[in-house]
Amino acid sequence: MNTIKLMLIMAFAITLAACFPSNNSAKTEVLLQGRTMGTTYNIKVVSTLEQVASLKLQEKIDAVLQQVNQEMSTYIPDSEISRFNQSNSTAAMEISTGFARVLKESIRLGELSAGKLDITVGPLVNLWGFGPEQRPETVPSEEILASTRARIGLKNLHLNGNQLSKDIPNLYIDLSTTAKGYGVDVVAELIEANGISNYLVEIGGEMRLKGFKHTGELWAIAIEKPILDPSGEQRAVHQVIIPKDNAVATSGDYRNYFEADGQRFSHIIDPATGKPINHNLVSVTVIAPSSMTADGLSTTLMVMGAEQGLTFAQDNNLAALFISKTEHGFKERFTVKFKQYLK
Ligand code: ADP
Ligand code: MG
Repeated sequence: MNTIKLMLIMAFAITLAACFPSNNSAKTEVLLQGRTMGTTYNIKVVSTLEQVASLKLQEKIDAVLQQVNQEMSTYIPDSEISRFNQSNSTAAMEISTGFARVLKESIRLGELSAGKLDITVGPLVNLWGFGPEQRPETVPSEEILASTRARIGLKNLHLNGNQLSKDIPNLYIDLSTTAKGYGVDVVAELIEANGISNYLVEIGGEMRLKGFKHTGELWAIAIEKPILDPSGEQRAVHQVIIPKDNAVATSGDYRNYFEADGQRFSHIIDPATGKPINHNLVSVTVIAPSSMTADGLSTTLMVMGAEQGLTFAQDNNLAALFISKTEHGFKERFTVKFKQYLK
């Protein structure tokens, strides 16, 4: 009798499981793609084509991303950030709430990392040929390096609510490390505000996800193998992770770099030296609830290098994965908090 009961229960459970997908068969993964911030976006929402169309979701996404660009892109000459950078005034400027939110978090991470993340480092980025003012790929002289370094430092920047000011007229802010992640956060918030709670948002490699795929499985993310191929054509999976309801950010110097005199120069600058980082850490992946924070932290840890970065990540209870290049191939290390996300 007991056995029959159990079998019945099991049969019922199997029937339920079989019914579940068909009850929701109208829901699929609707893919929304486009371009923003000099890169691409790929968004998957678990919904129906009709709902996505009636919500005008893609138009809304493009509109919020355009707003982020108009506030924080150094590639747009009349954006809010560009107007601040171009201004010779040290008087406070009233800025938008979004711009203030990204600045506040970037400054917090800058202070937490004792200046390893420094959003005023832009002139050095440009000097090494990675910013909007792209230059020939040459190594700058010590004199130019010293005069450029005199222009940087978070101590010269002051944010008070929505009031932003600088102590030196030629201070230059570059939010490349956090603005893309912020874009992901505002898109995720927009999707949720439209009543959709299962999604994956990706802008130029920065991701944030929530809930389940239309099949009922958790979203899985593949971390790329670090292959020294700037074209990005050769790609392979290194590790699969299940980040749950979090953002995932990877910073790596294996795609964006130039070579001169047989040396590789990364687009990530160590503010302590004014020079591109030069160590064996090739990529850092961070998992955190906010994409803006994960984005900023992955760059911070990249600047620090594997040893200091790992200690910092452990001390601050961060979920981080480090991939270093050694004589014997790639070496992977992760924090205690990262372990739970490994598949
Ligand atoms: P990617 O995701 O392309 O690997 P990151 O998110 O790591 O890039 O950000 C790298 C960009 O951040 C650089 O191109 C530069 O504009 C800026 N940057 C470089 N070094 C620093 C630094 N120490 N602090 C803040 N921003 C930096
Ligand atoms: Mg980053």
